[in-house]
Amino acid sequence: MVEDIRRVAVIGAGVMGASIAAHVANAGLPVVLLDIVAKDGDDRSAIARGAIERMLKTEPAPFMSKAAARLVTPGNIDDDLGLIADCDLIVEAVVERLDVKQALYERIDALRKPTSIVSSNTSTIPLGRLVESQSAAFRRDFVITHFFNPPRYMRLLEVVGGPDTRADALDAVTAFADLALGKSVVRCKDRPGFIANRLGIFWLAVGVAEAAERGLAVEDADALIGRPFGIPKTGIFALIDLVGLDLMPHVIGSMAGALAPDDLFHRVNRPVATVEAMIRAGYTGRKGKGGFYRLNRERGKVKEAVDLATGDYRPERPARVPAIEEAGRSMEALMRHPGQHGRYARAVMAATLAYAALLVGDASDEVDAIDEAMRLGYNWKEGPFELIDRIGVDRFTALIVEDGLPVAPILRTAAGRSFYRVEGGIRQVLGLDGTYRDLVRPAGVIMLADVKRAGEPVLKNGSAALWDVGDGVACLEFTGKMNTLDPDVMDLIVRAVPVVAERFRALVIYNEGSNFSVGANLGLALFAANIAAWGEIEKLVAAGQEAFKALKYAPFPVVGAPSGMALGGGCEILLHCHAVQAHAETYMGLVEAGVGVVPGWGGCKEMLARWQATPKHPRGPMPGPMKVFEIVSTATVSKSAADAGDLLYLRPRDGITMNRYRLLADAKAMALRLAEDFATPVPPDYILPGPSGRVAMEMAVAQYARLGKATPHDAVVAGGLAEVLSGGDTDLLQPLGEDDVLALERRVFMRLLRTPGTLARVEHMLETGKPLRN
Ligand code: NAD
Repeated sequence: MVEDIRRVAVIGAGVMGASIAAHVANAGLPVVLLDIVAKDGDDRSAIARGAIERMLKTEPAPFMSKAAARLVTPGNIDDDLGLIADCDLIVEAVVERLDVKQALYERIDALRKPTSIVSSNTSTIPLGRLVESQSAAFRRDFVITHFFNPPRYMRLLEVVGGPDTRADALDAVTAFADLALGKSVVRCKDRPGFIANRLGIFWLAVGVAEAAERGLAVEDADALIGRPFGIPKTGIFALIDLVGLDLMPHVIGSMAGALAPDDLFHRVNRPVATVEAMIRAGYTGRKGKGGFYRLNRERGKVKEAVDLATGDYRPERPARVPAIEEAGRSMEALMRHPGQHGRYARAVMAATLAYAALLVGDASDEVDAIDEAMRLGYNWKEGPFELIDRIGVDRFTALIVEDGLPVAPILRTAAGRSFYRVEGGIRQVLGLDGTYRDLVRPAGVIMLADVKRAGEPVLKNGSAALWDVGDGVACLEFTGKMNTLDPDVMDLIVRAVPVVAERFRALVIYNEGSNFSVGANLGLALFAANIAAWGEIEKLVAAGQEAFKALKYAPFPVVGAPSGMALGGGCEILLHCHAVQAHAETYMGLVEAGVGVVPGWGGCKEMLARWQATPKHPRGPMPGPMKVFEIVSTATVSKSAADAGDLLYLRPRDGITMNRYRLLADAKAMALRLAEDFATPVPPDYILPGPSGRVAMEMAVAQYARLGKATPHDAVVAGGLAEVLSGGDTDLLQPLGEDDVLALERRVFMRLLRTPGTLARVEHMLETGKPLRN
């Protein structure tokens, strides 16, 4: 299983290969990255080496930490192919050419060790063709591992085995991808485009052709095919801009060539003259000079969009699609809406969902596999069968019959029923044979969604809930908008502590939102400030401090389990946990300075305690607070969980989980481990530098201000932060307690909130989601 794959080689250091190697390194494994010999210069491995250097500068970053980059060994296939002899998995990611891949496989087969597994990242070439001339041993050890771009961030991995592939090779790759790389593996059949691109490319092709033929504006088309169907707002055209217009003809061409003549794909795949002309003229999308949308720099950075009829650019405008409002939230009403917008939504989505149904029994036998592929490969909120269930199987079937679209056998099987149902609290899915099976999670996976479906919360209010996740572990979930923290959350925490103490062994703080928490509910704070309810605000600050302290000094272990953003108060609650089990993609930070305040829920106090205790740092009262000042005054957010460790937002004893689905189970296991010999922590003493330290911090900011890197209000906020972190008017020899630092946090927080500069920052953040640089 996972233990079997300890060393990896990736061959081909292009867009995909290099970033697959980076992601293997993110998992902590050594990896060899090979490309062809560089033609120019003395460095024969310059292609792979250059790829690693470029990746260190790429955003979004392929590496989770600089340490990961050191695990990648660059080389070239002429001098270094022998390095694969030690590798357990060899991933081929060279150009999409059958002859090149086949020739490379022969060289690999001669050098690899007998137990090794070889995989290809091909997007379009069938497995059968890839291995047709290879040895029997090679065919047994060969699989396709189809990563999505960018491999660190896209959670889908399509895995394909051939008739000769040994089952344990497929199992080993699946376990490795799941546990080490954090991927959700979807097994596909050896069919063109596998699942996600087969359906995704169909959807994009029909979306472009129908918009061009019906004369839609690209903005309106994207608005129609985005949000109303739970699809990212990039819709069709902005997504193609991201992927690259020039990639489309290749994938479309190879799919068209490989699919049976009666495949529905041929009906929707119609050439669009404007698009062809755009590609010829070099409009390849975001990576080039623009695509369906572009930024016209000649005209002073005007946003423009293409007119699909003429190919000319015109100023971009907001979408004008009243049909969306008029349809309410009903997808069917939108598709049946009279007028060209409704007809477009219907032409695109009815065909796409009908095609998804045709893929059952072809690309995969499982509807849930197809749904998962679209959720994770194209970021759809719900897969095609979940969308059909929402419309109703029979109503959807009637719709496509009216349109003359083929009705797939699985739709007939599902007639009068739905693809998913809940029986006895367990979600089930319909199979090809017409029976439902339980959707069981693999070992080591617990989803809060399942717990919620099966029972009632232990406690609940408008912003948070407490659940029983089994084995004596409770789970605190935030439920407010974007998981913001407000008085109700604090109230529930205070109520939860005695309940957990009495009925459970440990508490996990976890939720299944895309972000753990973006911090305090700023809307509430601004409202209170606008009516000058200062007393109320101060009460909320104090209530948060008390609630987080109640967690820290609870008689049971508390484990935070974040994924995505954990900002401001969302970071502070984690700093109070006894341990954190973080998803690898966790972005933690005390960002309060961005809205003009200081962390007021114990964030300063916890960071000071961490940095004064760390062996990383010279002792003495100054270095720790100075480091915290640097991190917090610049609102530093970690770029990954690994990076959070460098900032001491996470500590060495905290854990990292690569697979999002495994986070709750891992956090629960950690909580139970801690419960075995748990002792409530002893409050720390603080030796802080006092006024002289404060002056040093203020001087550092003044320096930034002179260089133009800090704004006037930055200096005000940093001054407040310096006051807290230096310990106020304390003198060097007088230790402070936690409550003293908390009192300082409150005092400075309240003072800053009353400044016009801070109120402007809060207002701006609420309106735009971005910090104001005033
Ligand atoms: P790319 O053109 O960026 O990189 C290909 C690399 O392979 C180049 O660096 C090239 O020098 C190298 N190469 C060519 N022949 C070689 C050989 N014999 N030995 C070693 N290296 C060799 O291509 P890419 O986009 O990274 O695609 C690589 C593979 O991944 C293809 O099979 C492609 O279909 C597949 N894929 C691509 C994407 C994507 O979004 N780009 C997504 C999924 C899968």
